[in-house]
Amino acid sequence: MDIKNMKDRFEQLRTPFYYYDTGLLSETLETIRRETAGREGYHLHYAVKACANPEVLRLIQQAGFGADCVSGGEIRTCLENGFRADTIVFAGVGKADWEIELALEAGIQCFNVESIPELEVIAGIASKMGKVADVSFRINPDVGAHTHGNITTGLAENKFGIAMKDMTHVIGIARQLPSVRFTGLHFHIGSQILLMDDFEALCHRINELQDRLEADGIKVENINVGGGLGIDYAHPDEHPVPDFNAYFGTYARHLKLRPGQQLHFELGRAVVGQCGSLVTRCLYVKQTESKQFVIVDAGMTDLIRPALYGASHCIQNLSSTGPVRTYDVVGPICESSDVFAKDYLLPETRRGDLIVLRSAGAYGETMASCYNCRELPKAYIN
Ligand SMILES: *Cc1c(COP(=O)(O)O)cnc(C)c1O
Repeated sequence: MDIKNMKDRFEQLRTPFYYYDTGLLSETLETIRRETAGREGYHLHYAVKACANPEVLRLIQQAGFGADCVSGGEIRTCLENGFRADTIVFAGVGKADWEIELALEAGIQCFNVESIPELEVIAGIASKMGKVADVSFRINPDVGAHTHGNITTGLAENKFGIAMKDMTHVIGIARQLPSVRFTGLHFHIGSQILLMDDFEALCHRINELQDRLEADGIKVENINVGGGLGIDYAHPDEHPVPDFNAYFGTYARHLKLRPGQQLHFELGRAVVGQCGSLVTRCLYVKQTESKQFVIVDAGMTDLIRPALYGASHCIQNLSSTGPVRTYDVVGPICESSDVFAKDYLLPETRRGDLIVLRSAGAYGETMASCYNCRELPKAYIN
């Protein structure tokens, strides 16, 4: 789809809002299905925190995905939108008691446990409820990903996971606890990863850990490699669908699965990132001594990625074909970091022009806030 063809429809709607292209989402889901179809024991869990729009969730669920949740609220949202409890995995360093109870009550597939205190709390709650909790351990593989510092998660310095040297010890503890069952290992090295070498490094690390466990006579039913595949923010129209062939191929080539072992993926951004856009309007063009600002009616409250990660999105003016000018594109929020782009080339822009921030489907709407007493952005889906 060419976003320019949406101009007449967008003109009817009050800005700012999110727009999701279901055609592209379906194409992406179909590509994932095709690339995993011939591979035995591959399971997909959509990382709900990327985008929890109910209609988007429903399409993903209908495509056969399970879910990866990081809060009780996400588990609830998934159950309300058709996901089967036994396809839900639950990660996060700070699971509250009520969230653990909710997950046990629902009968989720697995807790991805990130510390010994958490394991003990889950065991205690499960025991009280007369249940057995299936647990995987999130291991910190100390594998760096070539991505933004705020979104690497698999380094020793990060808060996530259990250190490799403690792995056998925690599995031993789990085996002593009658109300938990050890079912696997979980990893997630970060997000917006475009170098397949990073995933390959993770595979080698997992192979080593598996060899070590095997030597200790420990059997692992499930390997969960998390998510992290990136998208092309600079060229959304040239690469609307990420290279899933390279991604799944990397795991197929380098990860040594044991007979019968199941392999789980938790993709978020790569599934929904390119299908979403944030549509906004130019409120003012402001000239200062050194700069020209395009001030739009969307702000960091609607899309926080540029302010939070220094992320850049492709920006398009749907209303102008004028000569190209250089602008800083900024929002109306009372923060200096409320900037979408600096020194960005756009056709000459005027008040009222429709401005679109592309590739905003992941970590966009879900991260919106009401700061400055603003309304949350609406969302439209075709
Ligand atoms: C955020 C997250 C994911 C998804 O990451 P993407 O980069 O969006 O694919 C997967 N697993 C866990 C545990 C996460 O926290």
